[in-house]
Amino acid sequence: MFSTADAVVIGAGFAGASSAFHLSRLGMGKVVLLEREHSPGLHASGRNAALADPLVADGVLAQLAGEGMRFLQEPPAEFGDGRLLARTGTLRIGTRSDLTALQTKVLEGQGGLAGKLHEVSPVEAGRLVGVLQEARTEAGLYCEWGGVADIHALLRGYVQSFISRGGELKCHAPVVAFRRGSDGTFEIEVAGGVRFQTRAVINAAGAWAGELGRLAGALRMPLTPYRRHLFQSVRLESVDSRWPFVWDETNKFYFRPESGGLLLSPCDGTVHPAKEPAEDPAARSLLAEKLSATIPRLAGLKLSRGWACLRTFAPDGRYVIGEDPSLEGFFWAAGLGGSGVLASAGVGRLVAESVVRSEKGVDKMHPLSPARFLTSG
Ligand SMILES: Cc1cc2nc3c(=O)[nH]c(=O)nc-3n(C[C@H](O)[C@H](O)[C@H](O)COP(=O)(O)OP(=O)(O)OC[C@H]3O[C@@H](n4cnc5c(N)ncnc54)[C@H](O)[C@@H]3O)c2cc1C
Repeated sequence: MFSTADAVVIGAGFAGASSAFHLSRLGMGKVVLLEREHSPGLHASGRNAALADPLVADGVLAQLAGEGMRFLQEPPAEFGDGRLLARTGTLRIGTRSDLTALQTKVLEGQGGLAGKLHEVSPVEAGRLVGVLQEARTEAGLYCEWGGVADIHALLRGYVQSFISRGGELKCHAPVVAFRRGSDGTFEIEVAGGVRFQTRAVINAAGAWAGELGRLAGALRMPLTPYRRHLFQSVRLESVDSRWPFVWDETNKFYFRPESGGLLLSPCDGTVHPAKEPAEDPAARSLLAEKLSATIPRLAGLKLSRGWACLRTFAPDGRYVIGEDPSLEGFFWAAGLGGSGVLASAGVGRLVAESVVRSEKGVDKMHPLSPARFLTSG
């Protein structure tokens, strides 16, 4: 089977779904979204902590976090009436110097957050989040502008809006080969022999984006997947679902209320090949150590389940968005690291704008452009 499309997006996680949504919003014509699995969001996009965290130290990424917060608070009407954001706020704990350094960096990039950030004492932190009573922390920093996203509703919103504008989602569609025609078009082959011809390919393959780029003959992008664990605790009487999510900036772990208990991460980050990671028992021990060292009330916390998933980063920690400098018509929507849920609205917009406006070539100057890696290619 052979079809033509104006653009083909590969990967239906947050990067690809939002890119497809924005392409259809910009009137791109026929857009096809290809996903290897049986449904969208089975990897990082469906298995993350869902934190909408506006405290971003990098000024460029902070712009996209701000755009993401506004999108979650006021999504387009076509996303329906359901809330995409539970605005619980965020509470950082840690040493005074770590929290001051964070606050300084955040305010450099987002001066508008000044009125939303409040320094709190350890005692006040314990009043906000009961389990933090007696916690071994020097200081706290509360931001009223964070929360927890409904990741499934957000992903569904992107995909359904895209489909309602005529977009085509094809699951069970792993891309296995690319060929370049003499007229500059791409022929994309999906396992089983189905082929698509297009002038614009968007690589939104998450942990697999690096290998997909190599398959296409694009720049060798220095993208590295890192494994991170999440754990669900048993139900706990003391947990209040309205608590802000808590992030220990010094000892590096976080938790938030979930399903009557807590969802927690030891903030581990081990380089891992692009494949489904298994849970490593060492991550449970790491979490237990961190909790018992800092939060006596969570020492010995019982966990009911855990899982691992991949966060994919470029060396500078910034996303990789825009046209490949060596392969015209091939666009990157990759390296979303640990903040791709919140950033997705802005990421998809930037990707779609660079596809639609690529003939102007302006996006190569953007700080997120893949062209910044030309020398390392
Ligand atoms: C443990 C953990 C916690 C996190 N917590 C947060 C958080 O609290 N807040 C936040 O904002 N972000 C968080 N993140 C980060 C966020 O989940 C990611 O940045 C985001 O989901 C990445 O989206 P993606 O679309 O790039 O990748 P993915 O979700 O991995 O999507 C890529 C898709 O491409 C498909 N694919 C790959 N190769 C092919 C191929 N050849 N053909 C067809 N399809 C292909 C895959 O099947 C996959 O569905 C967390 C991540 C992890 C791992």
